[in-house]
Amino acid sequence: MPYSPSLDQHRAALSEPLISIVVPCFNEEAVIQETHRRLTDTLTDLEGRYEIVYVDDGSRDRTLYILESIQAADETVRVLSFSRNFGHQMAVSAGIDHAQGDAVILIDADLQDPPELIRAMVEKWREGYDVVYGQRHSREGESYFKVATARLFYRFINRLSDVPIPLDTGDFRLMSRQVVNVLKRMPERDRFIRGMVSWVGYRQCALPYERARRYAGVSKYPLRKMVAFATDGILSFSIKPLRLATTMGFLTSGLAVLGILYALVLRLWTSYWVSGWTLLIISVLFLGGVQLICLGIIGEYVGRIYSESKRRPLYLIGEALGFKTDTEPAALDQRPTVIMRNRYGT
Ligand code: UDP
Ligand code: MG
Repeated sequence: MPYSPSLDQHRAALSEPLISIVVPCFNEEAVIQETHRRLTDTLTDLEGRYEIVYVDDGSRDRTLYILESIQAADETVRVLSFSRNFGHQMAVSAGIDHAQGDAVILIDADLQDPPELIRAMVEKWREGYDVVYGQRHSREGESYFKVATARLFYRFINRLSDVPIPLDTGDFRLMSRQVVNVLKRMPERDRFIRGMVSWVGYRQCALPYERARRYAGVSKYPLRKMVAFATDGILSFSIKPLRLATTMGFLTSGLAVLGILYALVLRLWTSYWVSGWTLLIISVLFLGGVQLICLGIIGEYVGRIYSESKRRPLYLIGEALGFKTDTEPAALDQRPTVIMRNRYGT
């Protein structure tokens, strides 16, 4: 066969590893263009093959429109858009499901995670690490309340969870194809991805970084969503709260026994006795409270079993742009995802 340098070059280019970047976006019209510029700068510097998968999580502003125009001008860009807002963790999951890369990097759209760290992540991956996660050493421009509660949360969940979850990490991380394939086989609904990645194991390492302030726009994580996310994290990584119910049961029974002994001693050996309705009401209320708390904790788990048992798709995709037709079904059959409309760019 005659030597064909161009064919060889073509083969070499295809065997070169592909890096995928997954960016969840919800109402990010103010930042998305700048994010794309900074990502592209960093990735072209890396001199390898790359793709950027933007997941529009049912934005109500011009985010999808901007993403479509970015995609039309750049063949490395893929866009998935959800039929409605499914939440940050679902957007990240969809990106992971559809990314084709040998390494997949998750990054927020608001430039709080510096894209420039991607180079160091890729270097660690080339050294042989399967997961390289960014660890926040400082957080600029976030309220004292947010920083303090986040610190507390990571320490608390580590006391409860059987799997150690690295302190002060977000979803900004690189994962090897091996880890991504395992994640794609984890069908749970309450997705606490940073915990799920810790559970997977393999070789993991941390890269410290300074978390910048948001480039523009406001946080899409109000207190309500933060509390729900923290609860998901704890309940999907620990059953210790259920044990708390047993502990509280023993404690209240112990208190009751002490009360009975006290009443008996007074009655039998002194001329006093316990009287009045105050004690009665207090003990009834106390017991009622403890029982309701225990019911609530059990209810949280039962509710999760209920929504898990419905086996609904995790997210619905309204539009997929820039995916190659032959790779699409492979990504889809991993999980019951529904694509309602498809427009293929490349
Ligand atoms: N996000 C999303 N869906 C949501 C909320 C947030 O895809 O329902 C995205 C958002 O666009 C951003 C990332 O998740 O890229 C992190 O959100 P944000 O920066 O608002 O959270 P914070 O950094 O304030 O905790
Ligand atoms: Mg942010």
